[in-house]
Amino acid sequence: MPLHEKLESVYADVLSRNPGEVEFHQAVREVLESIGPALGKHPEYADARIISRLCEPERQIIFRVPWEDDAGGIHINRGFRVEFNSALGPFKGGLRFHPSVYLGTIKFLGFEQVFKNALTGLPIGGGKGGSDFDPKGRSDREIMRFCQSLMTELYRHIGEYTDVPAGDIGVGGREIGYLFGQYKRITNRYESGVLTGKGLLYGGAKVRTEATGYGSAFFVNEMLAARGESFEGRTVVVSGSGNVAIYAIEKVHQLGGKVVACSDSSGYIYDEKGIDVELLKEIKEVRRERIEAYAERVAHASYVPDRLVWEVPCEVAMPCATQNEITGKEALALVRNGCIAVGEGANMPCTPEGVQAFLDAGIAFGPGKAANAGGVATSALEMQQNASRDSWSFEYSEQRLEQIMKDIHARCSETAEEYGMPGNYVAGSNISAYTRVAEAMLSLGLI
Ligand code: GLU
Repeated sequence: MPLHEKLESVYADVLSRNPGEVEFHQAVREVLESIGPALGKHPEYADARIISRLCEPERQIIFRVPWEDDAGGIHINRGFRVEFNSALGPFKGGLRFHPSVYLGTIKFLGFEQVFKNALTGLPIGGGKGGSDFDPKGRSDREIMRFCQSLMTELYRHIGEYTDVPAGDIGVGGREIGYLFGQYKRITNRYESGVLTGKGLLYGGAKVRTEATGYGSAFFVNEMLAARGESFEGRTVVVSGSGNVAIYAIEKVHQLGGKVVACSDSSGYIYDEKGIDVELLKEIKEVRRERIEAYAERVAHASYVPDRLVWEVPCEVAMPCATQNEITGKEALALVRNGCIAVGEGANMPCTPEGVQAFLDAGIAFGPGKAANAGGVATSALEMQQNASRDSWSFEYSEQRLEQIMKDIHARCSETAEEYGMPGNYVAGSNISAYTRVAEAMLSLGLI
């Protein structure tokens, strides 16, 4: 069977086995569309059994999460853990709490995670989990009870050598603390390496909080440097105002750029003097308020409700909110307004049309698998520190992160060049990650 037909039949199989899971279909299609050249060159990796097995999670767990609110009302949510691929190491990937979460969301994120984790060069497989629980407006006690209930089932599936969850949207340090506490209580084991993103007092790693955002800025910096450019004096727009966005903004400022706008699901704020990151941290991390509060506190800043932040002209765009937030329309507007580089801090924030518009315009485009891999890479460093009961300094940890991002950039650009697509980080990341996972799977034998 010719290669393209083989890939089409794998995709048709994914569609029929996973009906309605549109984000998962999108993520699979994007990878299948890029790996053709690698499969042509290395027929052993073209084995349909490898590709098909890669598209089917090793294990999928769905469970009930009952919990009690502060008024005594009982709620039932659904919990998920998709253990996607463990060829390179234990399953590794975050937990997402958001009302839109369903199996298809977790599968798409788990699939992406397999490739992202492979790109880090560290020994981690890929998985993802979460719940359709909506943390918005919930008290601290309710969050605690929900996390404890979720872990009461999840604990039996995870372990430092099995599956190591971390945070994602809706799950930060507070939630990881409650989850870890419940794991410890149930198992009677101080097994720090079972979760990453922990607080610094109980096995957490320095720079893990900052890592996804910092890493994305480092990656964009590398893409700019490869074109003889830099962040110096550049106007930058970041979407989102959660963990990834906050630390992307902080690092862009340290690298000489100016982030003039960021957003949440209700609108965006614009500050021509550059976003005050300390104030943003206080609003989002301490007070847990909406972004609108920023404009109430800063006289020269404005809040624009119900509009997308991508209408603000910029030279560098960093989507750090959620999937499919930049469609073809927003991408074309960004290009028209003079954007020269885009780095995906979130997972799959650009639709296929969005990505195509950036590639057609010849601007530097860093896909999430590569650009936001700094978070999970630093999680792997946290696992290393837990295993050796060690704790590294902030400076050393940040140096390691920066080097990892440089290595990922080099891996993607060298692979893109090798396959005749210089500067195409989409092809570079997918081919390089696919060949690593496929080779490991072949070496481990067919089961
Ligand atoms: N949720 C993050 C990601 O999308 C981090 C996962 C982790 O640290 O395991 O990569």
